[in-house]
Amino acid sequence: MSDLIRSTAAELAAKIAAREVSAVEVAQAHLDRIAEVDGSVHAFLHVDAEGALAAARRVDDDVAAGREVGPLAGVPLALKDVFATEGIPTTCGSKMLEGWVPPYDATVTRRLREAGVVILGKTNMDEFAMGSSTENSAYGPTRNPWDLDRIPGGSGGGSSASLAAFEAPLAIGTDTGGSIRQPGAVTGTVGVKPTYGGVSRYGLVAFSSSLDQGGPCARTVLDAALLHEVIGGYDPMDSTSINAPVPPVVAAVREGVTGDLSGVRVGVVTQFSGDGYQPGVLRSFEAAVAQLKQLGAEVVEVSCPSFDYALPAYYLIAPSEASSNLARFDAMRYGARHGDDGTRSAEEVMAITRDRGFGAEVKRRIMIGTYALSSGYYDAYYGSAQKVRTLITRDFEQAFGRVDVLVSPTTPTTAFKIGERADDPMAMYKADLCTIPANLAGTPAMSVPSGLSDEDGLPVGLQIMAPALQEHRMYRVAAAYEAARGTVLASVPELAGAR
Ligand code: GLN
Repeated sequence: MSDLIRSTAAELAAKIAAREVSAVEVAQAHLDRIAEVDGSVHAFLHVDAEGALAAARRVDDDVAAGREVGPLAGVPLALKDVFATEGIPTTCGSKMLEGWVPPYDATVTRRLREAGVVILGKTNMDEFAMGSSTENSAYGPTRNPWDLDRIPGGSGGGSSASLAAFEAPLAIGTDTGGSIRQPGAVTGTVGVKPTYGGVSRYGLVAFSSSLDQGGPCARTVLDAALLHEVIGGYDPMDSTSINAPVPPVVAAVREGVTGDLSGVRVGVVTQFSGDGYQPGVLRSFEAAVAQLKQLGAEVVEVSCPSFDYALPAYYLIAPSEASSNLARFDAMRYGARHGDDGTRSAEEVMAITRDRGFGAEVKRRIMIGTYALSSGYYDAYYGSAQKVRTLITRDFEQAFGRVDVLVSPTTPTTAFKIGERADDPMAMYKADLCTIPANLAGTPAMSVPSGLSDEDGLPVGLQIMAPALQEHRMYRVAAAYEAARGTVLASVPELAGAR
């Protein structure tokens, strides 16, 4: 395997800026890798080789001309197919948007391009980001590079799998209930959900607008921080964007790698263990906590009782917002139109289009959400869920009065087999037990690899949570932990020649 493929984003950027390697060579090495292994992994829905090489050439020209380039200039990236990309298809993993080529860039896309980041293509995802396994993609599942019979997590399974398969050193995901962190955990990669409002949602196809948040995926904590600073920050095009500087996450990583966590107070959330948690995951978590202590952190147990109601509250709020957001796919304004043979009414065409265009899980969410919002039920369902949301926010506030960060396992289990939970929505939803509270509270959280489970040899994630706009706290702890425990991906199976 080429060294370029194994390199971190930080290493690649340094080499490109120093002209030790060209951005074109780096892009080509990753395109070759995609051609070699993506038949088995299926991380990508669309590869834009021409666009990637053109972007890489521009960076090489800038470097040759002595112009200053950004800290990730020339580094390849895999972009979740939920972000609008001018001139590049955007499907959200749905037949509804098949063939749609957006006329504009999402703010995240634009910031990546302006920073000289080389977009390799668009990654596979559960349809409209609804799922925990990427099996709900209308274009077939992505496979986990650690074991091709297993799921890579979801909804952003394509983004995280592309990192673990060494197809890209950086990726972007979105996290509404865990879709960055859970795929990160089960593929042995890093995934960060920023503070709600920290990364612009302009041009991000909406699932649940009060929860959706884009964020960085990477193989190292430093790479995630570098990417976070490129995509984060105020955007007047997003009404919920926070007008504040991006938290100093790169500086926090540089501080963290010194390995000293003395003075840092870490709270272990007591709600996240017990039934439904794989023993190997819990053992890995205990080892991670012991490691944090060894690095000097002060560890205490913290109870957040309302977290027990996070999952049911989420599965009312997210579908409710989805039912309203997805109403725009009406066969008229956006996306597919089916059955319009000149004899049918607009309502009939709409019904046929929505029936053919949406998959089963999306329909389930639209029905749950429409029901929960209907008159007479609104207060009982949506209203109660919003109250739980407030209680969860209070639990976080109380906890962060005592500790600097909270920790838990990222997911209750390691990667499950493809098909194993496909007919059991509740089992699928439980993959997000530990990740959802941070979405409901709008606070940042990340997953960093915490080794391999001693039961099945599959990756486990450590979740670190922080108060709003205090991302630097969790990055510092993650960097110190990563430096102490070493990389996990060194042992991912070689996929070369898999097919
Ligand atoms: N698995 C969760 C769901 O299906 C989270 C999805 C997400 O974060 N986009 O809703």
